[in-house]
Amino acid sequence: MRSVSIFGVTGSIGAQTVDLLRRAAPGTYRVVAVTGGRNIAALAEAARELRAEVAVCAEEAGLEELRQRLAGSGVEVAAGAAAIAEAADRPADWVMSAIVGAAGLVPGFRALRNGTTLALANKESLVTAGPLLMAEAAAHGARILPVDSEHSAIFQALAGEDVAAVERIILTASGGALRDWPLERLARATVAEALAHPNWAMGQRITIDSASMFNKALEVIETREFFGVAPEQVEVIIHPESLIHSMVGFHDGAIMAHMGAPDMRHSIGYALNWPARAALPVARLDLAQIASLTFRAPDLDRYPALRLAREVMARRGLAGAAFNASKEIALDHFLDGRLGFMQMSGVVEDTLSALDAEMGAANLPGSLEDVLAMDHLARTRAGEAARRIAGER
Ligand code: NAD
Ligand code: MG
Repeated sequence: MRSVSIFGVTGSIGAQTVDLLRRAAPGTYRVVAVTGGRNIAALAEAARELRAEVAVCAEEAGLEELRQRLAGSGVEVAAGAAAIAEAADRPADWVMSAIVGAAGLVPGFRALRNGTTLALANKESLVTAGPLLMAEAAAHGARILPVDSEHSAIFQALAGEDVAAVERIILTASGGALRDWPLERLARATVAEALAHPNWAMGQRITIDSASMFNKALEVIETREFFGVAPEQVEVIIHPESLIHSMVGFHDGAIMAHMGAPDMRHSIGYALNWPARAALPVARLDLAQIASLTFRAPDLDRYPALRLAREVMARRGLAGAAFNASKEIALDHFLDGRLGFMQMSGVVEDTLSALDAEMGAANLPGSLEDVLAMDHLARTRAGEAARRIAGER
């Protein structure tokens, strides 16, 4: 029996992971740990259904409710960030890292120390601490498998290939909910409008990040860190149909594209069953029905996040941590209605310049502690920048 843990079980990726486990033959998996944020009812339900060893919620305030909901179930309960990290210390063969944001960083690191296979949905881990995470995996004989659909696509296109033969990696982007809006109107986009994603059903935060292309910006950095290619080898193309999930171009001019229905259970299932391919409950493409695929270059005035990602990659070191943390704060402010849609990139840009000295000249982040300290500092600076920029509205 294979042992698995799911960090962020109550989220969009977490629930789709549970869906796949539920469909497996009884006795295939044994669930070690499940963790969630504030939705205690959903966490308790997942823990009961999966007969997890332990269920952990992010905040102490949720512990009593979790205890009550799991009374008599035999599931251990715990709460707090430290307890989530401890849950990652429990050995499991396969661990899903699907907490959203920098909060997913430490649990992923801890799981790698057991030599596990880490299915990585939490792209923030690679953006903030890519070189450290990859080194940690190597040091413990652990494996990281990408879950982000683009990176799963690239990983699959690279199967059996030599990375040295790669000329470029082409990330596809849907363009999100606002892709066809005139630039002038974007400044007034509301949360509800930015949440209306045309192709993918995802968590709230990543859906807004798709509309602003901050998600693609994170993914460009994620690509560079995971596959070890140079920044200039990573390209972005808008592909509104979201049927090609990404492409790899080789030195001989060939391009390998990965296609499929826009359903995250494909990449989750691929990571779960790797290196085998098991049958998955995803829709099959009817190509005659689809008839055509379209592409267009992204407009960098519309998507300053893509330009900022280039600066972050050139700088590396702690710039990824500052970038991600300031993006998270800018997003909080947009979600609360305190900041306009187009002001989010201003907050990130101002934070990166304010932290120029603190980010140092180092090309690589020194330690996880450095990354966490920069994350913390950038949140403070970004909060200041957000208040100032919001005042200019
Ligand atoms: P979500 O918001 O639906 O779920 C996030 C999960 O993290 C929930 O279980 C939530 O309770 C938990 N969580 C939130 N804050 C936490 C904290 N401080 N401490 C502990 N747990 C916390 O998000 P999602 O869409 O499932 O995305 C999860 C990750 O996967 C993100 O890194 C996202 O970028 C990535 N991802 C998601 C998709 C998708 O289709 N949803 C696709 C590609 C990558
Ligand atoms: Mg993606």
